[in-house]
Amino acid sequence: MENGSYNPFLVAQSQFDKVADKLNLDDSLRQILREPMREYHFTIPVKMDDGTTRVFKGYRVQHNDARGPAKGGIRFHPQETVDTVRALAMWMTWKCAVVDIPLGGGKGGVICDPPNLSEREQEQICRGWVRQIARNIGPVNDVPAPDIMTNGQHMVWMLDEFETMHGGHYPGFITGKPVGMGGSRGRTEATGFGISYVLREALRELGIDIAKTSASVQGFGNVARYVVQSYIELGGRITAISCWDREDKTAYTFRKMSGISLNELQGITDKFGTIDKVRADELGYERLPGSAWLEQEVDIIIPAALENQINGETVHKINKSVKVIAEGANGPTTPEADEVIKQRGIFLLPDFLTNAAGVTCSYFEQVQCNTNYFWDREEVLQKLNAKMTEAFNAVSTLARTENVYMRDAAYMIAVKRVAEAVRQRGWA
Ligand code: NAD
Repeated sequence: MENGSYNPFLVAQSQFDKVADKLNLDDSLRQILREPMREYHFTIPVKMDDGTTRVFKGYRVQHNDARGPAKGGIRFHPQETVDTVRALAMWMTWKCAVVDIPLGGGKGGVICDPPNLSEREQEQICRGWVRQIARNIGPVNDVPAPDIMTNGQHMVWMLDEFETMHGGHYPGFITGKPVGMGGSRGRTEATGFGISYVLREALRELGIDIAKTSASVQGFGNVARYVVQSYIELGGRITAISCWDREDKTAYTFRKMSGISLNELQGITDKFGTIDKVRADELGYERLPGSAWLEQEVDIIIPAALENQINGETVHKINKSVKVIAEGANGPTTPEADEVIKQRGIFLLPDFLTNAAGVTCSYFEQVQCNTNYFWDREEVLQKLNAKMTEAFNAVSTLARTENVYMRDAAYMIAVKRVAEAVRQRGWA
């Protein structure tokens, strides 16, 4: 979400401008790539349970589809802004390109607050969103997915509305569906596992034994839990986890120097990702301020909750011991903080490479839907591992040979691929 002076779209554009300079892109390509190709803003009227009608604001932004149908989630959030949606759509274009899947970038949203809406009202928002945009999205032009506060049930309502309007079955219209309703096995754990695959490769390249490392994580939601699970399975030790406390409306960091137990913490976490602080105290976890996750004496830090967490003010709090930052969340680091990270020589695994396993698995879901044949979990995870390893190797090889920062290398590969597609299509 946009907050104060932080505008994610301006951040996304400034990151792009720097890479465009490095790649010497001509003016027409810059103009095409630094703006969304299409934007839809619309209203969604909903008859509420109390008989009144409320009108919600909905968006879909298609940043670029030169390499394939736009792809990206739909967020339901009371503070959603069109600039957040624009930034995320642009990052999706680069994310799909860096892992070399034949998709473009899109994102959508509705300004609404699901915890304060009934199931029926949420269903009406989903169906209304599809009705307003159905002519401009679909399996061959734009494929939505879940994002913040939307889930598999929302996707099935949207699919049903789309299929009712088009009179047929189009399971490849939307991803993130439940298994058995066209969903892919392995999707739930994909993003977190993918972060660990990339981290594993990075540590191998740096000559660091993962079994001797420790890490601190921000977040305890879908992404964080699976990265924690797979990192621990690879032999690492997580000493601190920060998460939001809904009751106290603040974040806490839970620390155990000997290493947290995932099962133990999951057992005392509610469905919104809040860890029960009283039970954590009883289990011997130290409770520190929410921002303490960043200051821990660990080898690796993993921001896996929100954007704008490592910025000009907070970057100096990163402990001297930190060697690697693996970005799980989208946009956790600002350009100002990037400069400091670069100077300190911390190895950065940039978000749109590191968390790209989510969209890669969504692409696998689309492929399975379109062929009407579903793979088992092992096959999905093995394909995911191969794709993420290949993407990491391409980015790190470029970073080494050109002596550039990992984020810049990832951008250079992605922007080059998209620019090439734009050029080949004759748009510039
Ligand atoms: P989620 O809603 O499941 O979990 C979010 C977590 O963040 C919760 O545990 C919450 O307690 C915590 N949190 C919120 N505010 C906090 C704060 N101030 N301090 C500490 N913790 C806080 O979300 P998710 O699906 O895990 O996504 C996390 C991030 O990863 C987002 O930036 C999302 O866009 C990105 N992402 C997710 C996926 C995916 O497949 N889920 C894919 C790519 C990127």
